[in-house]
Amino acid sequence: MALKRNLLEDDEPAGNGYARNDRYNAATVRRIADKYHSILKDLGEDPDREGLQKTPERVAKALQFLTHGYELDPSEILRSAMFSEEYQQMVIVKDIELYSLCEHHVLPFFGKCHVAYIPDGRIVGLSKIPRVVDAFARRLQVQERLTVEIRNCIEETLKPVGVAVVIEAQHMCMVMRGIQKQHSIATTSAFTGEFNAEKTRAEFMRLIGRSNPVG
Ligand SMILES: [Zn+2]
Repeated sequence: MALKRNLLEDDEPAGNGYARNDRYNAATVRRIADKYHSILKDLGEDPDREGLQKTPERVAKALQFLTHGYELDPSEILRSAMFSEEYQQMVIVKDIELYSLCEHHVLPFFGKCHVAYIPDGRIVGLSKIPRVVDAFARRLQVQERLTVEIRNCIEETLKPVGVAVVIEAQHMCMVMRGIQKQHSIATTSAFTGEFNAEKTRAEFMRLIGRSNPVG
């Protein structure tokens, strides 16, 4: 997948569900940048000093990139690489890097996502799983919903025997402000089908190197 670093005026939907990378809608960049110019003033800064002159535009582009998941269709990403296959063992993709923005503070939360599924006649190209994670993570999120959205997308598109998703993340809104619990990591999990069975879930948790969560 070649990265397109061009600035394009529009962002036409991509056929395979994830071709968009650094494409910016020029009108949207302008609108967000204008607002950021006044936000900088409200923060007591001089938005016209040298170091800040291009900041509103950079922030606008960064925000568009960090939320580009809205333009992706995660189910389509999976459908683009589904194959019939009789493999019936657990498929695990672990330690997927995850970067998202909390919808309460628009601050980053980041960590690892572990995904497993047990095929029922269909498998999916392994590289598509991290892309699905990214498509949901690159939006304003809460970790709990992100976990369930990834699970539901795989469940509904691939219709496997079961799906398991575990996310471990650090939230900058906890680390940098308020309670400043600098090392606390939030863990969320969501399971379907066979992973609701204690034995299967315990095997998955063991394979990703974690203890079995309660519930
Ligand atoms: Zn937050």
